[in-house]
Amino acid sequence: MPSWRVHRTVLSQALREVSEELGALGERFVKGLYKGVVEPDKVSDKAVKIRVRITRSGRVRVRSYRGYAKHHTVDESLIEYYYNLALYHARRRNAFLSGVALGRAIHYAQDGSVETKRFPVLNVHDRVEEEIEEAIKSFGGDVWKLCRSTKLGREASTQGLEALCVAYEKTSRLLKNFFTELAEPVDVKELRRKVRMIRIAKIWIAVTVAIVAVATVGVSGLVIAIPICIATALYRPKTYYEAMKAGLMVLKPYSFEPAY
Ligand SMILES: [Zn+2]
Repeated sequence: MPSWRVHRTVLSQALREVSEELGALGERFVKGLYKGVVEPDKVSDKAVKIRVRITRSGRVRVRSYRGYAKHHTVDESLIEYYYNLALYHARRRNAFLSGVALGRAIHYAQDGSVETKRFPVLNVHDRVEEEIEEAIKSFGGDVWKLCRSTKLGREASTQGLEALCVAYEKTSRLLKNFFTELAEPVDVKELRRKVRMIRIAKIWIAVTVAIVAVATVGVSGLVIAIPICIATALYRPKTYYEAMKAGLMVLKPYSFEPAY
């Protein structure tokens, strides 16, 4: 997306659709939203890449690289992380941080609405962003009526006006989903119990795999057992994400170092 003004304008227009629900979270939530919707441009999230290489001598080398998270071709898992984090903070009654997190999710969703490359070599990013600014200026309030009345159902566009409506649609969807999920009752006690059971099951699987491997093939069996144990430890079932949205735990995405 182009300027911060556009980010904020799209947000303020989409907020009109959830004006009733907004009341419950109050001013601090809205303040956080406006901070978060522009913040990723100055407080960056880092993307982490892991490369595994086998050298000529047969050694395994693992290296990690850090770079800035992409905005226009953003990974959905980053948007999902901030969306879940917004619910996490809302359930813990921290309205400001909840707003910041949802704002950051919206920022990436809006940036992702501008398709930057029409063909592999032709970058149309600047042209689309100019068209967006132009559409807001020349159509005035009618542009939002148009965006509200059309359902595009696509993820990005190389046409300014269409990209603006895609950004609006995504913003509105994130806000509506957030309030719908927040209104649903959650059984915190039951979720806590399920998480505990899963953790016990994971430990049980890891220990069993290690014992069976060593008992059948000896110490060399650990070569197979260790990756299985790591995969088991890293596996995140749906219950974990439900627990995050209920305010019980934070699951940072594996491929990012988020700012929050
Ligand atoms: Zn951005």
